Amino acid sequence: MHMNRAYNFSAGPSAMPEEVLLRVREELLDWRGMGLSIMEMSHRSKEFIAVAEQATADFNTLLEVPKDYTTLFLQGGGSTQFAAVPLNLAAAGQTVDYVNTGYWTSKSITEAKRLAPVNIVACSREQGFSRVPPQSEWKFSDNAAYVYYTLNETIDGVEFSFIPDTGPVPLVVDASSTILSRPLDVSRFGVIFASAQKNIGPAGITVVVVRKDLFDQARPDVPATLHWLVHAANESMSNTPPTFAWYLSGLVFKWLIAKGGLKEIEKINQRKAAKLYKAIDSSDFYLNAVEHDSRSWMNVIFSLADAKFNKAFLEQSTAAGLLNLKGHRAKGGMRASIYNAVSEEAVDTLIDFMSDFERKNG
Ligand SMILES: *Cc1c(COP(=O)(O)O)cnc(C)c1O
Repeated sequence: MHMNRAYNFSAGPSAMPEEVLLRVREELLDWRGMGLSIMEMSHRSKEFIAVAEQATADFNTLLEVPKDYTTLFLQGGGSTQFAAVPLNLAAAGQTVDYVNTGYWTSKSITEAKRLAPVNIVACSREQGFSRVPPQSEWKFSDNAAYVYYTLNETIDGVEFSFIPDTGPVPLVVDASSTILSRPLDVSRFGVIFASAQKNIGPAGITVVVVRKDLFDQARPDVPATLHWLVHAANESMSNTPPTFAWYLSGLVFKWLIAKGGLKEIEKINQRKAAKLYKAIDSSDFYLNAVEHDSRSWMNVIFSLADAKFNKAFLEQSTAAGLLNLKGHRAKGGMRASIYNAVSEEAVDTLIDFMSDFERKNG
């Protein structure tokens, strides 16, 4: 660990593996002897196409994406997919089903309502978005174009521990803040999308995995930049892709493969989350109100029992090199985002800081 690199618990854009940053630095001015930076290269050059293809192949290997799916790397962030999903999957007037578990699903619902009749299958707002409602409580509509949910609510600290069963109705998931943190059975989904700046690294690129038979469902009037089939037919290069972010994502995929892939990273992530929740639960000074089986492995939210200590907690943690622990403005309190690139050592250091702070103030 470099002396001047702090522990970064930012929710997004978030920590990048140090090995990846060092590699980027090494290659930045002169990419593999070509005399220019990768960000100065045409996306149509054979060198960049090879980088893009390798990144896509490595992503598909990591997530074990089956052959009947296409993986796209697009601009526009997760939020653009909030509109792209109904435009690509719902015929005009067809109802779409949403399971609302927090801030990001709520935003997606607002967007979908402008484009389709939305049925809320279940909603945990009355419980302060502190749980995933069990599927036994859900009320699907009769002819939904798809069922949509958010795998991990980045702000509310709530994560699904099960994959919903929607029969023949395509399941669509926003996996922005948890993709690649552990294995996922892609074959259960119609569409998986994820903005990269949470658990992959750089902002400016969004992965969209689409089951190919769903391409037929796009409306005739979908703008080309939002049209999954248009992007698929052009290998995600129907317009200029975010080349530097794609290259960087590819380095992160290689880093994950070298670590042993998703089964290995899952073990580390499970351990990190378990010890941090244990530290919170075994203290009266820190609180987390999320139901145990709905707790996020990636975004651990907590509050201090007495909010008068918030300011000192943030000041002292920052001074100790533990950055970005302030909770989202919609939620208050604290949040430690412990994505793949946040080491177990970082989590241990945070736990030590928390118990130390409690001893001095509790
Ligand atoms: C951050 C986030 C988004 C929004 O991503 P943008 O790239 O900022 O549009 C959507 N969904 C989830 C779950 C997120 O964490």
